[in-house]
Amino acid sequence: MKLILKIIVAIVVAAIIGFFALAPAYIDKSKNTVSIPPPHKKNSWYDSIPFIADLHCDELLWDRDLLKQIHYGHVDLPRMLKANMALQVFSVVSKVPSGINIEANDGNSDQIALLSFAQLRPISNWFSIKARALNQCAALHYFAKQSDGKLRVITSRTELKKFITDRKNDRSITSGMLGLEGAQPLEGDLKNLDEFYKIGVRYIGLAHFFDNEWAGSAHGLKKGGLTTIGKKLIRKMDSLHILIDLAHSSQQTINDVLALHNGPVLVSHTGVKGVCNNQRNLTDAHLVEIGKRNGLVGIGLWETAVCGKDATATAKSIRYAVDKIGIDKVALGSDWDGAFEMHFDVTGIPLIVAALQKENFTRSEIEMIVGGNVRDFFLRNLPQ
Ligand SMILES: [Zn+2]
Repeated sequence: MKLILKIIVAIVVAAIIGFFALAPAYIDKSKNTVSIPPPHKKNSWYDSIPFIADLHCDELLWDRDLLKQIHYGHVDLPRMLKANMALQVFSVVSKVPSGINIEANDGNSDQIALLSFAQLRPISNWFSIKARALNQCAALHYFAKQSDGKLRVITSRTELKKFITDRKNDRSITSGMLGLEGAQPLEGDLKNLDEFYKIGVRYIGLAHFFDNEWAGSAHGLKKGGLTTIGKKLIRKMDSLHILIDLAHSSQQTINDVLALHNGPVLVSHTGVKGVCNNQRNLTDAHLVEIGKRNGLVGIGLWETAVCGKDATATAKSIRYAVDKIGIDKVALGSDWDGAFEMHFDVTGIPLIVAALQKENFTRSEIEMIVGGNVRDFFLRNLPQ
């Protein structure tokens, strides 16, 4: 009897250790895959592109050392440097409903609570969306501090200008910026915005996969617009120079933002209905309106965004968007490490360059699309 008890205890202990040690990494490895594995060939001028940038990745969600190259997932510092990347925006995913889909989700369940528990993140992270979002933001600053100056966190125009100057003589440095994917980490309290500003968040997607206190999601149940406090949030974001990201917003939220706010907005990771018609992608009317306001549209690198599994598909959506709103308003918004299959990891940007050449973009146009436009947009719109 004693022996059986010992065996049962041993099995339970092994299962618990196995869960914490293996489950988070297993989820990370099995979700963040690629359709085209590396290595990827660069053309003769790829490494001379002055500023390569991407508007959206979810790397901070996972338990990784950003400074070390790993053999799975999509983004880490060594691979960013290999890809001649100047800036990656690290967006914070803080709550994801179970059974997630692009049509309709309620906000009653929370897979990130379970993931935070399995990752053994601080106990506050298991229960508070705000705590887990701040924790991810702090992680980027931690890695920057540990990086020997190779990774900088950009929060202002001044820092970005200095980084651009320094990088002219040193291609071994790169940078990151922080964004929120959905405003739910504010936990319904406008005062929390100050804390996220202070830690460096410079764009906020209003809603993610479910309708929240602030705005309706394209994938929510009601798909409503801005709420009363959502409108106050827009005004406060404006006053702080935190940019509005309309990725995942419902049609009505986009309409409400465009009615309330005159300045530029961005759509950090999206596709266009004109090429790939589904719930998450931008209509022509919204695309044009965002263009008129000097906004920036990041085109994605995954199947749901562009209806294809390679760089050619992304280049087609980029061509469509450029023809509608102009060469200076379209960028890359990969969604790397977003827990699904991407065309390729960050070292695959050369494939995008090649696909854009096939779409008859010139070298200087390609340089704008793969990062020049992001640089110029942030130089115009970040806080001083
Ligand atoms: Zn997203």
